[in-house]
Amino acid sequence: MTKVENISEYLLKNDIKPSYQRMRVFEYLTSKQNHPTVDKIYKELIKEIPTLSKTTVYNTLKLFMEKGIVTVVNIEDNEVRYDADTSLHGHFKCEKCEEIYDFKINPSNIDYGEIKNFKINETHLYIKGVCDKCK
Ligand SMILES: [Zn+2]
Ligand SMILES: [Zn+2]
Repeated sequence: MTKVENISEYLLKNDIKPSYQRMRVFEYLTSKQNHPTVDKIYKELIKEIPTLSKTTVYNTLKLFMEKGIVTVVNIEDNEVRYDADTSLHGHFKCEKCEEIYDFKINPSNIDYGEIKNFKINETHLYIKGVCDKCK
């Protein structure tokens, strides 16, 4: 993924006012790369930002998605996770430790067959199984 050196500049470039809380949410996403849920981000950041609310975290993520700097990982119906890596990659979820791993996808290796002339807006590749550590 592209490393973001200067978060406030990056947010501004994407038409987002870089408030302190927004910068911290984005920093959390890029530094951990653990595909967190809203709850997880909230629980981690509240330790350092006591004024933070879960609604703020949620609205911040919504804004980031609208501006295209964060994508959603919908690997489970009942669980929305967020990813600051918007480049094309697949997600593997371990059913034991619930960790989500990234893996590379090469679009030129995908056989689109009968949909090859369609316009594609989003690509998601989800795989579930058991990771090396839990095997
Ligand atoms: Zn595992
Ligand atoms: Zn990812």
